[in-house]
Amino acid sequence: MNQLSDRINQMQESATIKMSKMSRELKAHGHDIIDLSLGEPDFDTPKHIKDAAKDAIDKGFTKYTPVPGYAELRKAISLKFKRDNNLDYSPDEIVVSTGAKQSIANVVLSLINPGDEVLLPAPYWVSYAAIAELAEGKCVEIPSTIDTNFKVTAAQLEAHITPKTKLIIFSSPCNPTGSVYSRAELEAIAQVLKRHPNVFALCDEIYEYINFTGERHHSLAEFSDIKGQVITVNGFSKGFAMTGWRLGYIGAPAWIARACDKMQGQITSGTCSVAQKAGEAALLSDLEPSFKMVAEFKKRRDIVYGLLKEIPGLKVNLPEGAFYFFPDVSAYFGKSYNGTALNTPEDISLYLLREANVAMVSGESFGDKNCIRLSYATSEEKLREACKRMKEAFAKLV
Ligand code: PMP
Ligand code: GLU
Repeated sequence: MNQLSDRINQMQESATIKMSKMSRELKAHGHDIIDLSLGEPDFDTPKHIKDAAKDAIDKGFTKYTPVPGYAELRKAISLKFKRDNNLDYSPDEIVVSTGAKQSIANVVLSLINPGDEVLLPAPYWVSYAAIAELAEGKCVEIPSTIDTNFKVTAAQLEAHITPKTKLIIFSSPCNPTGSVYSRAELEAIAQVLKRHPNVFALCDEIYEYINFTGERHHSLAEFSDIKGQVITVNGFSKGFAMTGWRLGYIGAPAWIARACDKMQGQITSGTCSVAQKAGEAALLSDLEPSFKMVAEFKKRRDIVYGLLKEIPGLKVNLPEGAFYFFPDVSAYFGKSYNGTALNTPEDISLYLLREANVAMVSGESFGDKNCIRLSYATSEEKLREACKRMKEAFAKLV
């Protein structure tokens, strides 16, 4: 008998984590899998950050930490917001968590009542919907396609707002599409929010540094009229190659920060002392190692773009940030391999896993019915080989 709660029974397993688990298992059984499923930099954490962590252990930073994070780290984050984003967030408006994922969960659980509508410009990152549903919110997708570079307009946003709308959640640069909202696009969104002061925006900026537009990153919180409605989420996983350290944070109005502090105080407490000291070093030192990684991502993006465009039928756009491609594979729907028809992105991604030994994530869990996501945060050699295998596998479909 299933004695689990409805809450957990109704929750979908994270598609990104499921696919990477599947690919790890296949690798363990000797399959030559190229894993493009998980969005994780393949670089090591820069040395000076690791050294700061070692130093923290030696200096005895081994005790419980203040629930919202060490004061020194929150001060460093406050300086970072000013330096990189020209945003004023004081330390009492900052809460440090065990990854941006927890930061998002804290905010959503703190703001959403059952039945509140949560707007998700689609495609969106998988966990937004799962977390909003955990809070008994009702997810409302705002659709977009590759033809508009997977961005929604301010007019679309306004058309989806109802008296029940509480929150919009989006990422820029975006996971899974790599799209980046320009300052003008964000300003138009800010104007809509200004007309709807009861609607909040959670802006996930975890890919901030991985931006190839040549322009500096823009935040919705830059628009002072609506800053009180914005929660800015960021973290260390992507920009500093620190996925395993589990460190993320928010800048938010103090009443929201206090709620997240309270939530976290009952569920996890303050995050790891050593990781926090490493994070402080990351923010306060030269960003050059991050920018070197970004230059490498850009090089890979250009290579993969060229290779994907050579695959007949695939519709590909040039992502402006993050490290994902989200090609539209719908031209292959209805085609078959050995008599089995492939009708969905899930069918295609499983076919590519079996036939080409390349692991990617189907678009469905990102709220898209035509695309699959691949992460190019891996070596050029593997990327070239993966694209070759994909091209051959697509050519076998009739
Ligand atoms: N937001 C987005 C858009 C992501 O891709 C990720 C991926 N890890 C996260 C949040 C969570 O990051 P973390 O918990 O590792 O800080
Ligand atoms: N955010 C990454 C991804 O989308 C890591 C996996 C996860 O946390 O979901 O692949």
